[in-house]
Amino acid sequence: MAKQRFVSLDLQSSQECEGVFGKTRLTEPGPRPEIYSIIGAGKSITGAFFGEGATVVGLKSDSDLIELDPRKSQIEISGGVTIAQAQNYLIPKGYMLTGVPSYPGVSIGGCIAGNVHGQNHFREGCFSESLIQFVLAHPDRGLVSVGRENYPELFFLTVGGFGLTGLIVSATLRVEPIINQQLDVFFDRFSSIQEGYDKLASKRNSARYFHSWVDLTSTSSKEGKGFFYRADFASKSEGSFQAVSCSANKKNHLRYKMPVFSKLTVSAINKIYYQKNKKFPKTTQSLVDFLFPSAGRLWYFSMFGKKGIIEHQVLIPDEFVTKYLKRLMDVLRTKRPFISLCHIKYFSGKQKFLNFNGSGLCLAMHFNAGSTELETLELIDKLNCEFNCITNILKDSRVPRWAIKEQYTEYDQFVSGLQKFDPRRCFRNTLSQRLIDVG
Ligand SMILES: Cc1cc2nc3c(=O)[nH]c(=O)nc-3n(C[C@H](O)[C@H](O)[C@H](O)COP(=O)(O)OP(=O)(O)OC[C@H]3O[C@@H](n4cnc5c(N)ncnc54)[C@H](O)[C@@H]3O)c2cc1C
Repeated sequence: MAKQRFVSLDLQSSQECEGVFGKTRLTEPGPRPEIYSIIGAGKSITGAFFGEGATVVGLKSDSDLIELDPRKSQIEISGGVTIAQAQNYLIPKGYMLTGVPSYPGVSIGGCIAGNVHGQNHFREGCFSESLIQFVLAHPDRGLVSVGRENYPELFFLTVGGFGLTGLIVSATLRVEPIINQQLDVFFDRFSSIQEGYDKLASKRNSARYFHSWVDLTSTSSKEGKGFFYRADFASKSEGSFQAVSCSANKKNHLRYKMPVFSKLTVSAINKIYYQKNKKFPKTTQSLVDFLFPSAGRLWYFSMFGKKGIIEHQVLIPDEFVTKYLKRLMDVLRTKRPFISLCHIKYFSGKQKFLNFNGSGLCLAMHFNAGSTELETLELIDKLNCEFNCITNILKDSRVPRWAIKEQYTEYDQFVSGLQKFDPRRCFRNTLSQRLIDVG
């Protein structure tokens, strides 16, 4: 059978696998593959949808189900539908999905399996906050309708469970009404990450959406200056419906990966961006543009040459933020890695199994995947363990198993829960093979 090469967005892993097959591959009679991996839209940065020896299965986007029940403010939707398709169906009807990631070309199944977050975790929580139930397909168990009440353990093993319990065929999700399709956006300057965190924490109740951008290209003299973005629905309703643009089948990478982004070029870009925001501290933006700043920007991942990048995202408990940031800046000043992008958000949630959820400061940094940066990340792994932080498993391709075992207090429960539900462990991928699977 023909194999296909899959490559992760960050360029840190690639694999030849059989696939992509539709969901019938899971249940059809005859000899079955030993290992499956599940693909949604294939946009997870670490390529968590393929794996060594795995047969890749997914849901074809042409069998898309989207059905709104306005009385219940609920939607029934296929796991293969993208966030862009869902929002484009909902927004003209006056509704939207919440807790959605900044890139809309991802699938509903991928959002559940990653339990992703959006531009206001403090208010909306992770994607699973709006999840009522889902239908799961498993070769040994058939189709199971899973809710918090009837299968609590399976529900939480699947939410943020990286596709290791089976294929999410469809889901029922709560939707929210839209007040306005335009947002008033305010930019507020800060001169250090600590100050950025203070702004996020103190203004957490005062805005519909908020997050911050930090410039870490020059840590020699600065502590990470940046902008705090605060957005609320505009008082005046202007403009017509703006569609979320994102092609479902768009290729992940450009054909040629030129190292266009370097410390020099990104530092110059950041300076221009900073001056522009300083000059225009208030603007009106469409809801869609604010929610999806990464739409149409996958080319970014091809701009660092063949080595690619590592995204490191960490959640720091409030009580350790000040100490952590001080130590982090010491590491960055000593090692001077190339960090092309850094953003911070404020989280409020409850941690479960291997979900990237909890409360405190969420800090994301994109490192060029060079040797200095890898050494820096090893130091940061230790820092994370020292300050009870958790690393986003779905974002960082190199975080080692020991760090995840130390950071996630329910690691063992997750692994034994998987084993109990599926003793054959039919579903595996790059992520589980690095962090969970034995043998
Ligand atoms: C530019 C960019 C910006 C991003 N911004 C954010 C952000 O703001 N917040 C955030 O939290 N994340 C963000 N992400 C990460 C992204 O939202 C997640 O990785 C998401 O899981 C990708 O969905 P996908 O459909 O592409 O899944 P895939 O990459 O195909 O798969 C991801 C995981 O989900 C599993 N999976 C997929 N579909 C199913 C299914 N139907 N049933 C069971 N398991 C399934 C796979 O097995 C795999 O383990 C961003 C990613 C990119 C590329």
